[in-house]
Amino acid sequence: MTRLSTDLSPYEIWFFTGSQNLYGEETLRQVAEQSQQIVATLDDASAIPVKIVWKPVLKDSESIRRAALDANADDRVIGVMAWMHTFSPAKMWIAGLDALAKPLLHLHTQANVELPYADIDFDFMNLNQAAHGDREFGYIQTRLGVARKTAVGHASNPLVQKQIADWARASAGWQAVKTLKLARFGDNMRYVAVTEGDKTEAELRFGVQVNTWGVNELADAVAAASSADVDALVAEYEDLYDVVPELRSGGERNQSLRDGAAIELGLRSFLEEGGFGAFTTSFEDLGALKQLPGLAVQRLMAEGYGFGAEGDWKTAILVRAANVMGAGLPGGASLMEDYTYDLVEGAETILGAHMLEVSPSLTTARPTLEIHPLGIGGKDDPVRLVFTADPGPAVVVALSDMRDRFRLVANVVEVVEPRAPLPNLPVGRAVWRPEPSFAVSAAAWLTAGAAHHTVMSTAVGIEVFEDFAAIAKTELLTIDADTTRKGFANEVRWNQAYYRLAQGL
Ligand code: MN
Repeated sequence: MTRLSTDLSPYEIWFFTGSQNLYGEETLRQVAEQSQQIVATLDDASAIPVKIVWKPVLKDSESIRRAALDANADDRVIGVMAWMHTFSPAKMWIAGLDALAKPLLHLHTQANVELPYADIDFDFMNLNQAAHGDREFGYIQTRLGVARKTAVGHASNPLVQKQIADWARASAGWQAVKTLKLARFGDNMRYVAVTEGDKTEAELRFGVQVNTWGVNELADAVAAASSADVDALVAEYEDLYDVVPELRSGGERNQSLRDGAAIELGLRSFLEEGGFGAFTTSFEDLGALKQLPGLAVQRLMAEGYGFGAEGDWKTAILVRAANVMGAGLPGGASLMEDYTYDLVEGAETILGAHMLEVSPSLTTARPTLEIHPLGIGGKDDPVRLVFTADPGPAVVVALSDMRDRFRLVANVVEVVEPRAPLPNLPVGRAVWRPEPSFAVSAAAWLTAGAAHHTVMSTAVGIEVFEDFAAIAKTELLTIDADTTRKGFANEVRWNQAYYRLAQGL
């Protein structure tokens, strides 16, 4: 049994400082000391969620290659940062960079903030050469085609720390995806195109293992839930949510809530048994399950699991990644679906929801736990949490299979309060205003061939997804305040050529 973890504290980022033997012992001692100070500054920065670990100064090809191989081999290491305090001739980095299989951040910084105008002498110049040492390093990275993020500025600068924090979160998301096992219960919704995709290619590109289990194996796990465990879980529901009277103990539909609790217990035990971090369901293939899993899916997503409805494993990957990338931050991540619009001119918004499965991590309010009929699926009425997502900045991201590769499309959005209450809408939902405007956003989204299922993250912004896409070497088309229809259409067109060329044969 593996309890799912969304905790970033076991992870490490290794900090490499480049130099060479030319400088002599005293200078190299100062290089080591000052690079440790930089690491301490970053490690103390509250924004950076992962431990930064200093490594001894690297001075030759073999130690650089060895350091890269050690980083590769250590599962705790989710990324490597590198900085050339002095001049580190970059041919020494060829073997190491070629071997490095972890995300890389090039930190272009220096030990001092201010130039010591009164005291500066050539000893100082000898020690503080990052301005050109890092240019030498930039050259070799570019020449080798090494994917990396470049962050520029002093380590004490909050903007620099934010860039490192975003990349650290993206690296953690990447680590989660690389080690992700995803269970599909049933296949895709029949005849749907965008939720299809190449699962073999996904394992090669992202590392995720996507496999299918018969839904009745899940139903067996649900049937095995003990009555005492169901009692305890129902008590937890009554504690956490406003449970409608008909579902409460003694209420006429209490059995439906107990059935929902059994589904959660069975799902959880199945996922933990198999070490799965994400899953999909299909309302067309529920086997012996009494209800479409709603409440259970909502709660598991809020705990960190990835989920996609209707067999949508690609969105399930994104939900898991977003849950890890947002660990410890306010807000959450959820499956979302663009559902219907408010087209009042000047006040256009998108109402997003799903049949049931929206994560309550999108709200800080207390959800209600309700039961309502579901028009499709032919099963008992499902129990579900009902709430409205908190207003604030968010991003929605979709993953499409473009036949020869995957494409991410993201829209920067603002979740807003609905203009009026939605008393008869019995699901979790979010209402948002997309950047740069409703019309441009929707036109761009349609032009990109992006999916109707997304992950919505209210915990991390577009920068983290940009870093994630760069690490994953996957196209990301971003629709934000700067997007124009014409520019976006061109970007789509040019990217088609670029990604085909970049992929080689
Ligand atoms: Mn759907």
